Amino acid sequence: MRKQKFGVKGPEISVIGQGTWYIDRGDRKRAVEALRRGIELGMTHIDTAEMYGDAELVIADAIAGGKRDNLYLVSKVLPSNASRRGTITACERSLKRLKTEALDCYLLHWRGSYPLEETVAAFDQLISAGKIRSWGVSNFDAGDLDELLSVAGEGAIACNQVLYHLQERAIEHAVIPWCERHGVAVVAYSPFGHNDFPSPNSREGKALQAIADARGVSTRQVALAFLTRIPAVFAIPKAGNAEHAADNAAAGKLTLSVSEIEALDNAFPRGPKPRSLPML
Ligand code: NAP
Repeated sequence: MRKQKFGVKGPEISVIGQGTWYIDRGDRKRAVEALRRGIELGMTHIDTAEMYGDAELVIADAIAGGKRDNLYLVSKVLPSNASRRGTITACERSLKRLKTEALDCYLLHWRGSYPLEETVAAFDQLISAGKIRSWGVSNFDAGDLDELLSVAGEGAIACNQVLYHLQERAIEHAVIPWCERHGVAVVAYSPFGHNDFPSPNSREGKALQAIADARGVSTRQVALAFLTRIPAVFAIPKAGNAEHAADNAAAGKLTLSVSEIEALDNAFPRGPKPRSLPML
């Protein structure tokens, strides 16, 4: 599994991590097995949120018995809870559900109505209390990041988690360049388009399949390798079973050639910059 530095101040962590939205909806035993297999194969970056139902409880089961130490555990506060006091109590609830003493990174899930100053003050307080090691944001466009930078200063924002998959490349216009300039990690969520992975019968799906066949890998691995071709980018696919987790982990050692990247760029064009940042 390839590792790289998570923002300017963060540790080196796995480029491919594990998402957990809806992981609590199916068979819990299979979900725990999926997360454990993923961890064994090096996908030690685990993403969750207070919004994801019982996902934090599923993770707690998966990491019980001494597996917590080598993980990079991330959770998120809902914007409706992101006041100074609300952020602290939301974080404490997540720590309790995850059965852990600290999060490696804590994110504002998307921008809401509480002033950024309040949420950032709460994040700083949580760092001082040893309850989180760093903080970041999610679904922030370049303009939001400018405002956040003026509140928090350089070096404070660990990451921006945003929608990024083959068919949705809007962040390449302004968000990725902004994050690269300021040493902020970009975390690609829904890297398979949530439930909309390219069909093998479509023109673009055939281009993807051709590369996968030539390399003897899966189309999912090719998709993840394409997204993480940019050094600031990490990806967090969600897998509901151990086979899918193993498939995704193998993308952590796949590097695409220039001509393969060009072929994917043609099949899944970036498109014009949208007026607002797409989110799920
Ligand atoms: P995703 O990772 O793009 O896709 C998940 C789907 O792909 C599931 O149906 C899964 O099926 C399937 N899948 C996974 N690996 C596969 C494989 N190797 N072969 C075939 N199918 C495979 O969707 P997502 O859950 O929306 O995004 C990933 C994570 O990003 C979330 O879980 C969450 O942690 C985060 N996220 C964050 C935000 C935000 O606002 N910050 C928004 C959305 C998502 P199985 O379940 O059957 O394996």
